Amino acid sequence: MIYKALKQRHITVSLWAAGVLLELPADMERYVHHLTQPLRSPPSVVREVEQADDMQGGRVPAYTAPPVAPPSDGPPVVTVDHLYSECGGDTQGHEGDWPWRCERCGQLVADLLTTLRVGCHDHAPHGQGGLTFNDVFVLGNMKCDTDTTDDHPYSPAAFIRGLESRGVPTRKVDRHDTAAVRQLAEVTSAPTGEERAAGRGRDEAVTVANENIVWGLERPIVVYLDNVWDSLCCADPTGRVRSMSRSTAQVIWVKYVKR
Ligand SMILES: [Zn+2]
Repeated sequence: MIYKALKQRHITVSLWAAGVLLELPADMERYVHHLTQPLRSPPSVVREVEQADDMQGGRVPAYTAPPVAPPSDGPPVVTVDHLYSECGGDTQGHEGDWPWRCERCGQLVADLLTTLRVGCHDHAPHGQGGLTFNDVFVLGNMKCDTDTTDDHPYSPAAFIRGLESRGVPTRKVDRHDTAAVRQLAEVTSAPTGEERAAGRGRDEAVTVANENIVWGLERPIVVYLDNVWDSLCCADPTGRVRSMSRSTAQVIWVKYVKR
């Protein structure tokens, strides 16, 4: 639509887009260039994103090697097993079918954040603070809208209860709340450090959101709530690309493990 409107006006412009699947007019395809270098995530995260069905199947172009080798592999991806049983097996306190319906998973992730010193203000080497709760995205294919009731199958209420029971403040972001989404972007990319700091200072909390509203954004820590059984032996078609790839450092992968 944008392309056609600009072409009719004989306007030449370069458009950058993130997280889109393009359906292009044939006469435009030769002008398209894909930025495929993994500039955001460390190699440890890139390897997991590359396993996504979308990337394996070619719907999303594969990564290419960066021109300069990354200085390190990055921290290894940490996994939390969400145990699910349809036939009464021991799930070790996990409940609900999907991870976002599980309070126990929320507690385990909160413990990991504590281990990573997120939200702790007791260490500030050289005058710099550590990671805050604003540096964390919790992402998956759940519904975080204000009209989603807590008992809705896609509500993350139980997972949030688990986080908050261990002292981790949370903020759900409604996909229709453009002001809230804009604020997430300001924390990421406001033009000055002062503005980014102001964005970070507002309501320090872990952001819980559907993976489809954070395209183009990033955080040091991404908690990815998977909803594909590991026993199906297939990669999540979209979640890895849309969630894990938001991470600039650490991924915590809550895996859906059927017993
Ligand atoms: Zn669980």
